[in-house]
This record gives sequence, structure tokens and C-alpha cells, in this order.
Amino acid sequence: MQREAATIKAMIRIYCRHHHGSKQNLCDSCSELLDYALKRLKNCPFQEKKTTCGKCPVHCYKPDMRKKIRDVMRYVGPRMILYHPVMGLMHTIDGFRKPAKIKK
Ligand SMILES: [Zn+2]
Repeated sequence: MQREAATIKAMIRIYCRHHHGSKQNLCDSCSELLDYALKRLKNCPFQEKKTTCGKCPVHCYKPDMRKKIRDVMRYVGPRMILYHPVMGLMHTIDGFRKPAKIKK
């Protein structure tokens, strides 16, 4: 959970730096996206059992936010190994975990 939040933060920061030329702070749209992503994470029904959001069976993002976060993941995903080797690796491993089913 904590790690997922840190990963999303790191990913959005890289994406924003490359696409919007931001330095320390995220641009408005990216900080909005980060806020939104962290909020979704907090409300995620899987909590500690969850896999990465990319494989999450619950599509908890609004369509436009979902599109944005997918753009970020698609762009940063392959580059995570370079910037955050450990974090990128953990994220990849998490991705192999099967999503848990929600009990009805
Ligand atoms: Zn940005």
C-alpha cells in the first residue's frame, strides 16, 4: 500500500518532468492526477491484498483520470527500472500476483 503510493508519486513526477518540464513541483494537472490516484488508492477495496492498479479488476478511476494514469504508466513503466530500480522491480513482481477476489 505504502509502496504503491510511493510508486505512483515517483511515476507521476518522472512523467511530469519529461512531458511538462516541471522541476521540483508537479504542474497543476499532474498534482491533480496524483491527488486523485492517492485518494483512489486509499479507498481501494483490496487494500493490502491488492495488486498494482494497472491489473486491478476494479476500475476505480473515472475515465479521464484513468486515461491519464495509463498514459503515465505506459510512459514511465519501462523507465522505472532506470530511475528506481528497486521500486520498479517490486512493482513488476506485484504485477504478477493474482488479483484477490472481493467477497460479496
Ligand atoms: Zn505535469
